[in-house]
Amino acid sequence: MKEQILGLLRSVVHPEIGQDIVTSGLVEQVAASEAAITVSVRFPKSRDPFAVKIKNQAEAILKEHFPEAKVLVMIKEGGQKKLPDLKEKTTTGDITKVIAVASGKGGVGKSTVAANLAVALKNMGFRVGLLDADIYGPSQPKMFGVEDYIPDAEEVDGMDQIVPAVAEEIEIMSIGFFIRPTDALLWRGAMAVNALKQMIHQTKWGPLDFLVCDLPPGTGDIHLSIIGEMKISAAVIVSTPQQVAVADVVRGVEMFRNEQVHIPVAGVIENMAYFTPEELPDNKYYIFGKGGARKVAEEYDVPFLGEIPIVQSIMEGGDTGRPGSTFDERVEEVYREIADKIVGNVMKNG
Ligand code: ADP
Repeated sequence: MKEQILGLLRSVVHPEIGQDIVTSGLVEQVAASEAAITVSVRFPKSRDPFAVKIKNQAEAILKEHFPEAKVLVMIKEGGQKKLPDLKEKTTTGDITKVIAVASGKGGVGKSTVAANLAVALKNMGFRVGLLDADIYGPSQPKMFGVEDYIPDAEEVDGMDQIVPAVAEEIEIMSIGFFIRPTDALLWRGAMAVNALKQMIHQTKWGPLDFLVCDLPPGTGDIHLSIIGEMKISAAVIVSTPQQVAVADVVRGVEMFRNEQVHIPVAGVIENMAYFTPEELPDNKYYIFGKGGARKVAEEYDVPFLGEIPIVQSIMEGGDTGRPGSTFDERVEEVYREIADKIVGNVMKNG
């Protein structure tokens, strides 16, 4: 499939270079599955006047040949960046990279971001797992419509392993499979930590390219215990534009940067950044203020990964058992651009 995609892209010519985008080496990355095709094209000079035209041409030709797939061609600027192969091992079993999704406070959309990020990575052709470690409010089972799943145990090499649920081709393990909502209070603390440890080490994962880990909100002891149990390659911090939420980003960055923790922050995502009414698709209303999270990211020298708008399908997705990016193309595109940046940052940090 990849060969076929490259073949098609050979018909897209950069007028100034006078060569097609494959031969000239502008096509940097192709990730393809039946469901989605992501291509990144890197233009050596910034603001290349032909960039948008080439993006549109490439998207049109790929959409024509793969009408079933969601197609996204991304424009990158500046020097060539080669990504190393993904197939290296970590200490966490057969999982290549663990990405932790954190937030300073609850309700900012951390779990929604984790779910949609998992879907976006899967659509890019990666094998993905989702570990819901939010002991205060595990929401992944509901978000993927697997609330009734009762995990089975299977013996592997003389040790019991827990079988994850599978939805949207994503392997899902959640603390929510083991507790009732009314238990939550009791479970906080030592018991929850023990259960989490078991989930981390005894789940029958993968093999996986990425495990997305939905952390509890805030920065506390529970985070340190989770962080201590597995090798996390990168942390992503979710915020909303409100000043109170933005202030918490700083605490998140500091937690991951702590000498003993030392986890690279792949970036900050601003969720519910703006609102676009259906009938005015080009208008963006920054109802909670603009640019707050981006500014903090810059101040603390962490990448800003992007803005996610307030979209009805994102909210409905959370309630109906299918994350928004599985059925709303606009939403999927927003998350896929963010996922692409995260993959880039994770690979860069080794
Ligand atoms: P957290 O995990 O940070 O507590 P959730 O992911 O549970 O937050 O999100 C809180 C609520 O906000 C949910 O009802 C969710 O559907 C909704 N939500 C999150 N992000 C968006 C968005 N971009 N647009 C619309 N609703 C959203």
